Amino acid sequence: MSQPTPDYSSKAPVLVTGATGYLAGWIVKRLLEEGKTVHAAVRDPSNKQKIAHLDEMAAELPGEIKYFKADLLDEGSFDEAMAGCEVVMHTASPFTSNITDPQRDLVDPAVKGTRNVLQSANRTDSVKRVVVTSSCAAIYGDAVDVSRSPGHVLTEEDWNTTSRLDHQAYAYSKVEAEKAAWEKAKAQDRWKLVTINPSLILGSGTAKTQTSESFNLVKQAGDGTFKMGVPKMEIGMVDVRDVAEAHLRAGYIEAAEGRHIVSNDTHDFLYICEVLRQKYGDKYPFAKGYLPKWLVWLIGPVANKALTREMVAKNVDHPWAADNTKSKRELGLTYHPVEPAIEAMFQQVLDAGLVKK
Ligand code: NAP
Repeated sequence: MSQPTPDYSSKAPVLVTGATGYLAGWIVKRLLEEGKTVHAAVRDPSNKQKIAHLDEMAAELPGEIKYFKADLLDEGSFDEAMAGCEVVMHTASPFTSNITDPQRDLVDPAVKGTRNVLQSANRTDSVKRVVVTSSCAAIYGDAVDVSRSPGHVLTEEDWNTTSRLDHQAYAYSKVEAEKAAWEKAKAQDRWKLVTINPSLILGSGTAKTQTSESFNLVKQAGDGTFKMGVPKMEIGMVDVRDVAEAHLRAGYIEAAEGRHIVSNDTHDFLYICEVLRQKYGDKYPFAKGYLPKWLVWLIGPVANKALTREMVAKNVDHPWAADNTKSKRELGLTYHPVEPAIEAMFQQVLDAGLVKK
């Protein structure tokens, strides 16, 4: 079967929402490499420090970048940035555990923000395709859900039906946002929606400092948080460059449609620690083994507010698997191994001084 080929020949600009983000940095880079004019929607274009890395890329690569001020919660905010664009890549959505009110801090920006961006698409005649960064979190809520999928492997047919505002709020924000996106897409017929559903994204960022929760997780591997051991929780992992490539292909392969699981290997947090110990030895307090589930259940909620008893019961010691065949077949994606991505990411955390050497 012939490989699906992206057609990057259009001269129309492309909008990237949340262009200051971790994943978005790599998407912008790839678009600039293809000579695209990137309309970068950011919360504060006057914050030169936050966009310096994007300016540096644009100076070296064939494409160009233009900044637009936009906030997910402001209606009509993306209209100006979208003008003239044929492809929209909607990556902006909070990915953080640093929240006090899950509705206000996660769900509203994710869901209202997605509706806002798509309402702008409805008003912008040039738009032909919208690529939304969803997540595997829109496909399943807890690892125990995987056992309910045929063959115990998640596919694009699966939807997260178990997350709630008071349980896995981030996953809830992602599934509600993706549902809102499909609802808007089905109510019109000018633009096509394609979603990318990545698992845990790993690899260095294009900016020196990063706020994505991915970095927090890798930081915790070396800062002593898990020096006594880690709960056995499996998850899919993928190199950030593969997720960025998936967005480009979803945007520019004519036949691309529907949802796409973008995930390479299934591992757990101990694996991340083992990869890092191979490289850094015992210089940092990487976990050396698993904590028993009963112990995590008992002390988890005291040690970490995200480790509720429900979270432990439904995620610790449950296998995780997802089928990435569609991403290979329809987007022509090939995956980088995740180990160098883990190392590069931890090195960036060290360079940023987030873990003491
Ligand atoms: P990130 O670096 O924190 O990026 C999030 C982006 O969203 C930032 O640019 C942020 O802008 C923007 N944003 C947040 N609230 C906003 C608002 N109210 N108005 C406008 N922009 C807002 O995280 P990331 O890991 O790259 O995540 C990017 C996307 O990938 C998200 O949709 C996330 O759910 C999805 N995803 C991530 C992973 C992962 O493992 N990292 C896995 C699956 C899916 P500021 O820079 O101004 O804060």
